Formats: sequence, structure tokens, C-alpha cells
Amino acid sequence: MFKNITIAIDGTAASGKGTLAKSLCKEFNYAYLDTGKLYRASALIIRRENINSKKKKDIEKVVKSFDFSKFDFFDDRLKSDEIGKLASMISGYKELRKILLEYQKNFAYKNHKNKMGVILDGRDIGTVVLPDADIKFFITASLRVRAERRWKELISLGQSTIKRRVEQDIRDRDKRDSKRKYSPLIAAPDAILLNTTNLDANSTFLLAKKHIEERLN
Ligand code: C5P
Repeated sequence: MFKNITIAIDGTAASGKGTLAKSLCKEFNYAYLDTGKLYRASALIIRRENINSKKKKDIEKVVKSFDFSKFDFFDDRLKSDEIGKLASMISGYKELRKILLEYQKNFAYKNHKNKMGVILDGRDIGTVVLPDADIKFFITASLRVRAERRWKELISLGQSTIKRRVEQDIRDRDKRDSKRKYSPLIAAPDAILLNTTNLDANSTFLLAKKHIEERLN
């Protein structure tokens, strides 16, 4: 029977998970799901519908009936810090996580034509979404380095912001994500830890690639 190779990449905000996941997908011809975009899309939807972020039931209702397959995940509004913050605020809701979990599992286990495997990145992939993933990574970097990277990214998107505020937002988001009751941000016990504080994107990619080749060969 067909079986995807499954790779889970978790980590702190702005740690470079997405950049790494995309390079690995290209290298190994895998399908990619940025699960943070599902939470960000949910945040965008509730803001569009003017739903108060504390109204769990209303959020649940609107997200449950939403067809994510029709959503434009390339919408630049998803990248803003405001939406990231709102995503983090609502991501503690158990029912919302349940709805998005189903989408993530379906993606991971469906047959992606011409692809050899899948990579999902997020906060709880190795612990909750794909506890049996073939390979798990947990990525982090110092707060200062992550803030610098995120600040540059936001500036390149034309969003005016100051570095100190970006750093504060990242700190708050990590705290909220780590302290929540359901699916907190935590490294799976069997995850390979990668600290990218002193590594650029290419060195991180080469390191992760080496781990994958060692495991799969
Ligand atoms: O990774 P990204 O910054 O796009 O994620 C936005 C927010 O979505 C995170 O801060 C986190 O609260 C939430 N999230 C989550 N679980 C995931 C992916 C993202 O709770 N698997």
C-alpha cells in the first residue's frame, strides 16, 4: 500500500520552519502544508465576519462551515503580525483545533500525486497531528535573531514596524503558544533539535537534509 514519508517540523515563532520546510520539499519532492496558515486563515475569517475573538462558539461555527480548499493561502494579509497574534489568541480553543486537526491529517495521509512524502510545519505536528511521523524536527533560535529575521520579512512586505515591537510580539506569542492547555508548543521527545541562531537558511537546510538522508537510507 502507498505510504507517504511524513516529516513534522515544529518550533518557535519566526524560527525559520517555513523556509526549511519549503527547501526540503523541493529537494525531496514532498508536498507541503504550513499549518500556521490554517490558524491565520481562521483569524482572517473571524475578523472579516466581525466575530469577537473571545466568542468560542461563534468562531467554531464559522470555521466549521468554511471550505479551506477554496481559501487563497497566498493572501498577503495572512502574513501580518496582527493576524499572527489573533491566530495565536484563538489557537488555544479546543474545538477550533479539532476542526483544523482533521484537515491536517487528511492532507498528511492522502495520496499526493507524484509526491514522495509530506512535510507539515507548525507547533504541535510531532506531538499531536503526526505523532508517528517518520522524522521530527524542533527548530528554534534566540529571540533576538528571530526578531531580526521577522522584522526584515515584514519590511520587505512593505509593513512599517519597529524591531522592539516585533521582538515583544514574538515573545508574547511563544509564551501564549507554550502555556496553552491544548496542544502547547513543545518539542516531541523524539524530535531532532535544531538551533539556528548561528546558522543561515542554507546551513540549516543542509543539516536537516543530512538527518533525513541518514534516517531514510
Ligand atoms: O506559524 P505561524 O506564525 O504562521 O502560526 C500562527 C499561530 O498559529 C501560532 O502563533 C500558533 O498560535 C498557531 N498555530 C498552532 N498550531 C500549529 C500552527 C500554528 O497553534 N500547528
